[in-house]
Amino acid sequence: MANRILYVEDNPQNMRLVRKFLNMAGYEMLEAVDGLSGLDMASKEEPDLILMDINLPDIDGLEATIRLKAQPQLTHIPVVALTANAMHGDKERCLAAGCDGYIPKPVNRNELLSTVENLLAQCIPNNGTK
Ligand code: MN
Repeated sequence: MANRILYVEDNPQNMRLVRKFLNMAGYEMLEAVDGLSGLDMASKEEPDLILMDINLPDIDGLEATIRLKAQPQLTHIPVVALTANAMHGDKERCLAAGCDGYIPKPVNRNELLSTVENLLAQCIPNNGTK
């Protein structure tokens, strides 16, 4: 079964680009356009990995990640922060919020796929059924 990746992103162009990269690599992509619907979808779908935009219209991606990681049934899901703010200390802030990886925008296809692949390979399933 294909790994399912949730992308929380409010920018349609980024959504389209990442969807293309992930679909071509054989992943199934779930989509949410803001932080709260992303949290909702994460609980409902329990994806294998989450790509998290940081600048979102409601709660930001850091807050969304903190809330995700606080839920015992979701805490094992790797979260990768995607951000255009290539500011000093940005990566550290994402990791401090509980993100497992960090990709600066614009998203580079090889960087995205290798980050996703590495995290999925390290990931210990929370049960034996999938
Ligand atoms: Mn955004």
